[in-house]
Amino acid sequence: MVVGDIATGTDVLVIGGGPGGYVAAIRAGQLGLDVTLVEADAYGGTCLNEGCIPSKALIHVTGLAHEVEHAESMGLHARADIDVGGMVEWKDEIVDQLTSGVEKLCKANGVNLVPGRAEFADANTARVIHGGEGQGSESIDFEHAVIATGSRPIELPGLEFDGERILSSSEILSLESLPESVLVVGGGYIGMELSTMLAKLGTNVTVVEMLDDILPGYDDDITRTVRKRAENLGVDFHFGEAAQGWTEKAAAACVTTETEDGETSEYTAERVLVAVGRQPASDTCNVEAAGLEPNDRGVLETDDATRTAVEHIHAVGDVAGEPMLAHKAYKEGHVAAEVIAGEPTRLDYQAIPAAVFTDPEIGTVGLTVEEAEAEGFDPVVGEMPLRGSGRALTLGDTDGFVRIVADSETEFVLGGQIVAPDASELIAEVGLAVEMGAQLEDIAATIHTHPTLSEAVAEAAANARGSAVHTLNR
Ligand code: FAD
Ligand code: NAD
Repeated sequence: MVVGDIATGTDVLVIGGGPGGYVAAIRAGQLGLDVTLVEADAYGGTCLNEGCIPSKALIHVTGLAHEVEHAESMGLHARADIDVGGMVEWKDEIVDQLTSGVEKLCKANGVNLVPGRAEFADANTARVIHGGEGQGSESIDFEHAVIATGSRPIELPGLEFDGERILSSSEILSLESLPESVLVVGGGYIGMELSTMLAKLGTNVTVVEMLDDILPGYDDDITRTVRKRAENLGVDFHFGEAAQGWTEKAAAACVTTETEDGETSEYTAERVLVAVGRQPASDTCNVEAAGLEPNDRGVLETDDATRTAVEHIHAVGDVAGEPMLAHKAYKEGHVAAEVIAGEPTRLDYQAIPAAVFTDPEIGTVGLTVEEAEAEGFDPVVGEMPLRGSGRALTLGDTDGFVRIVADSETEFVLGGQIVAPDASELIAEVGLAVEMGAQLEDIAATIHTHPTLSEAVAEAAANARGSAVHTLNR
């Protein structure tokens, strides 16, 4: 303890108030534990302040504007008058509402909120340095700790963030005026979601991706559909080129890229969005003093009870590794709190869904065909193309499909991949099927409301059984 510190004690110390941390804290409070949550910046973490929520708000409103302006074939002739400042203000209001909601929920569940940066002093004590001059610090003894310090954007050497030309996703989501051109480095989740959004706002977007396609890890027919739509919006893709560095040229950034063969190219844009992945923030709370060592990727490794190598210290969310998704952080936060409270809870990763909020959206859960084969299954696949869906036609949005993967012998649903409007919502049905051990017939025989996109999920399940009516059976 440092002289002058105030000393307090708690059953559970949670470090970081993002989706992993605040869920762990609230759940631990519900289970009757004495909980202290320390947050260095803003409640809600990356997700609420500069990630999921702000990006989805802006993606929605730009999608709306684009849809209104491209509905001539439906007999609608309209122009959307985009006020970027107004859009950002609306997004900020949503963020404020949600972050203050998290604070209220924590308090209502008895969580003691401490603003400041927490650092371990040893395996049972942390020091909290309060923000601002003269704010002092305090020392907290704990029985259990949950490290939920999240992640930060990876900085490319030669393209360090400067808040002016070279931006991270956080800064691009808060721009008050529309750049005329943006070079996006990285065609992953952030690159694809935000390049689609910017293109719909009328910005000239170029994407430079080191690999030979967008969204590494997704099936070819998924990326093809999304890439084509982005190209139709005017996004210019360059694959097999890694961004190396930049210079200021004629009031713009001139970025140099290089192929594996050493061929270089230059791209000029008003702003550059670097979205080449995120790294765990395992270096913010002096984990070494608690006896922990992040692995070579900065991840705090955990077991299926979210325990680190030091048994009474847990790690959840992005700092505990891939996939870096808010709902995975939620789940781990729940498990950490329940394990600490002595409940027999464990993590089960077989059904973590993922959604990419491109146009059309992508939703996936469970196994792909290749993954099912690799795990020793003999998979059967059912598909429903959206062009056969009445609802997709009424929405004027027929690019995409629903695919269900099942075990051919038992017909247990193993996974699904959806490319469609609202695929992020539709995938929940397949996730439920995987989680509860449903069979193809359970989905196919469920009466789905007509006309909806969810009917395509039932049709895909029926298609895998050879009994689809609205599409040709395979
Ligand atoms: P974070 O949300 O990063 O929270 C960590 C918190 O810890 C921060 O508030 C930080 O201030 C605090 N902290 C760090 N160190 C200390 C310390 N020493 N003391 C006290 N406090 C500390 N995921 C999805 O599932 N869906 C999406 O649509 C989605 N969209 C995204 C869009 C963007 C642009 C980005 C960047 C991310 C997106 N994500 C999305 C990912 C999602 O935001 C993260 O997976 C999620 O926020 C991880 O939660 P977490 O609690 O682990 O960490
Ligand atoms: P990402 O890992 O999804 O994509 C990074 C891309 O950058 C890859 O395709 C990679 O090949 C490419 N790349 C790396 N170095 C490069 C270079 N020098 N030049 C050109 N390309 C390069 O990372 P991201 O888009 O930054 O997103 C970070 C994480 O945030 C995601 O992995 C995801 O966990 C989370 N996220 C989730 C959502 C969602 O759930 N909808 C949305 C946004 C972000």
